[in-house]
Amino acid sequence: MVTHTHPTLPEFEYIQPESLAAASAFLAGHAGEARPFLGGTDIFVRMRDGIITPKFLLDVKRLPGMNDLHFDPQTGLMIGAAVNMNRVAANPEVRAHYALLAEACQAVAGYQLRNRATIVGNICNASPAGDTLGACLALDGRLHIHGLDGSREEALAGFFLGPGKTKLKAGDLVTGISFPLPPPGCTGTYLKLGRNKISDLSIVGVTVLAYPDPHLKSGLHFHIVLASVAPIPLVVVAAENYLGEQPITPESIHQAARLAGEACTPIDDVRSSARYRKLMVKNLTRTALTNVWHQLHP
Ligand SMILES: Cc1cc2nc3c(=O)[nH]c(=O)nc-3n(C[C@H](O)[C@H](O)[C@H](O)COP(=O)(O)OP(=O)(O)OC[C@H]3O[C@@H](n4cnc5c(N)ncnc54)[C@H](O)[C@@H]3O)c2cc1C
Repeated sequence: MVTHTHPTLPEFEYIQPESLAAASAFLAGHAGEARPFLGGTDIFVRMRDGIITPKFLLDVKRLPGMNDLHFDPQTGLMIGAAVNMNRVAANPEVRAHYALLAEACQAVAGYQLRNRATIVGNICNASPAGDTLGACLALDGRLHIHGLDGSREEALAGFFLGPGKTKLKAGDLVTGISFPLPPPGCTGTYLKLGRNKISDLSIVGVTVLAYPDPHLKSGLHFHIVLASVAPIPLVVVAAENYLGEQPITPESIHQAARLAGEACTPIDDVRSSARYRKLMVKNLTRTALTNVWHQLHP
């Protein structure tokens, strides 16, 4: 028996497609044995651990548009799939208009990892623990996808089907994610509870985004998305609707946090018990809602 003292990667063929069309054609023609990669911080770990053994890896980082990061004051923000998280978090326009996204990126592991890791990789990996998914959902992200029939856009809402499962079809390649201009007065926060401050996935993650909305009784529109407590990032619609319908007070915030605790379906795992997760969802949701409410009404 051969004992490996150091885990190793299985063999694979490295491919640099010359165009988006070539990448989609290759992926479709080798469905089940070819995968695209960006920073590689998820895929290489899964290959090393023997969870997946793709025959071909497509390095799609140099394809057109993949490294673009562009803000337009009329239309919003476009982030190419290969743009790493440090670049997003340091961008002055992201910090000014999409501070929640910068905060979420900075919650991911440590600086070195974020020099490789991408938001699109975080999304396509489809782990319910992904730290940037809540911000991308709350900010109404839209995925730009190249497939066998050319390019299309899809809302991120509805993209996640389960742990590691998305709506992507054979031949699909995500080329970037865009965000509309955030509503005026928009503010948000991401609270992450992990076993340590760096390099660990969340036990619980709570994203809250809110902005003034005169159409709602409360005058404030809240988005609440939970990480690591359901098979997919959990949008807590019941709590969002509840907060739209009555004055925002410490009591209504308490009740919304209770609704968030009821909505989640966490599991026991190496990081935490399900019971602790549920308790911390209530606790952190209350804190996040209170912080955001105070930011809107200082
Ligand atoms: C030490 C360590 C700590 C970590 N800590 C955290 C953390 O705190 N929070 C967190 O959220 N994550 C964490 N991660 C996970 C990982 O870093 C993130 O999920 C990261 O965002 C993945 O991005 P990537 O560019 O490296 O993706 P990759 O590994 O390149 O790809 C991820 C997945 O997406 C698919 N994919 C890649 N590109 C495309 C594309 N263009 N179109 C369609 N599918 C594509 C790949 O086939 C693969 O399945 C950690 C990982 C490590 C190794």
